[in-house]
Amino acid sequence: MEIPDGTAEWKKGCNMQETDLVLQLIEELSRRECNGHAKLRLGTALADPDKFKDIFSHYSRGTYFENVDLELEEVYPVVQCQCGYENTAPSADVVSSCPQCGGVPELVQGTEFDILEPGQ
Ligand SMILES: [Zn+2]
Repeated sequence: MEIPDGTAEWKKGCNMQETDLVLQLIEELSRRECNGHAKLRLGTALADPDKFKDIFSHYSRGTYFENVDLELEEVYPVVQCQCGYENTAPSADVVSSCPQCGGVPELVQGTEFDILEPGQ
């Protein structure tokens, strides 16, 4: 598995990825029965949760989703390497080269984007 494209942008402090995901979320919520509460599982290698919430309130202002209580279940990145190295990295420290063997570890967790509530 390759590190997804969004990760590099996010590392640069760019909001594009978050904006994209927020718009996806709003589009998806508009198809579901939303009773003022939404729960999202979000990988922090994919998007910064604080930025995500800020951008969500920006785009939902003045819309039906303005008062939706958005709950984020954050999933921290985990990298694994062929040599057996494994690390749970805080969001800013996604390992790009293995400290043990210099290889490129695989990002096995941290890119989740799953709407848990409301159900489909
Ligand atoms: Zn390694």
